[in-house]
Amino acid sequence: MNKAFMREPDPDSRVVCPQCGSLGLPVGNGPLDRYLRPGSRARFGDSAWYCSYLHCEIVYFNQFEASARLSDLKSSVYPYDVDAPICACFGCRYDDVEADVAAGEPVRIRQLLERSRSPDARCETVAIDGQCCLKEVQRLYLKLRAR
Ligand SMILES: [Zn+2]
Repeated sequence: MNKAFMREPDPDSRVVCPQCGSLGLPVGNGPLDRYLRPGSRARFGDSAWYCSYLHCEIVYFNQFEASARLSDLKSSVYPYDVDAPICACFGCRYDDVEADVAAGEPVRIRQLLERSRSPDARCETVAIDGQCCLKEVQRLYLKLRAR
């Protein structure tokens, strides 16, 4: 990850979504190549930002006024489609998290945690936001468990 995004918030250096103002997450070639249709992919260079606000239709944008919307994606993707895999590396789905909640023990999530530490985890290049999915999986587990 670019260290510039790790430091204290600084209004001049943060990159926010042109539509909703959410802070962008930096992504490289991997996610752009994987998720964008070729025509949309051509609008971007080697990097862009991902807008993580679920209700915003912008998915990727850059500082040169290029942006890609949900309709520019090759396929439906979590979290916009809850039936799509949450984890781009190992295919963990909403149903798996639900099954863990029903079983009263996060067996699948523990397996995912282990695999996420292996070299097979390639979140930076295969996840739509370039981030590891575990935070989202854990958030979902706690949310479903509280129901
Ligand atoms: Zn946005």
